Amino acid sequence: MGAEVRQSVGASAVDIDGDMISGLRLNTGETITARHYVDGSGVHGLFRRAFGIGSTTPNELKNIAIWDYWRNAEWAVRVGVGGTRVQVRSLP
Ligand SMILES: Cc1cc2nc3c(=O)[nH]c(=O)nc-3n(C[C@H](O)[C@H](O)[C@H](O)COP(=O)(O)OP(=O)(O)OC[C@H]3O[C@@H](n4cnc5c(N)ncnc54)[C@H](O)[C@@H]3O)c2cc1C
Repeated sequence: MGAEVRQSVGASAVDIDGDMISGLRLNTGETITARHYVDGSGVHGLFRRAFGIGSTTPNELKNIAIWDYWRNAEWAVRVGVGGTRVQVRSLP
């Protein structure tokens, strides 16, 4: 579709003009300008941070998640392909 794709390149700074983005500086030294910018940086919140917008964390949940991947686990064979196990525990 004519899109230029760059891989393994980071956006190091966002240029702001008022409430608009005027350019995206890359760690290659290049500056990209476009009509539209889409932030796909996930939790890094590249654009959110550039505009100084904070975020709130619901710290009353105080949850942690631990996960692992298993191979040839006996219980996994019983559960079958596509089976998944989730354990939820509430600890004091
Ligand atoms: C431990 C863990 C387990 C999870 N398990 C699940 C699950 O089982 N099911 C589920 O639905 N969700 C799960 N999630 C949540 C899920 O991973 C995220 O919601 C999802 O990956 C968010 O996708 P995204 O594309 O918005 O961001 P991301 O997947 O975080 O992608 C953002 C990308 O942007 C890149 N990036 C960041 N800053 C820059 C920059 N300045 N320049 C260039 N690139 C940049 C990053 O390197 C990254 O590749 C889990 C998350 C974690 C941390």
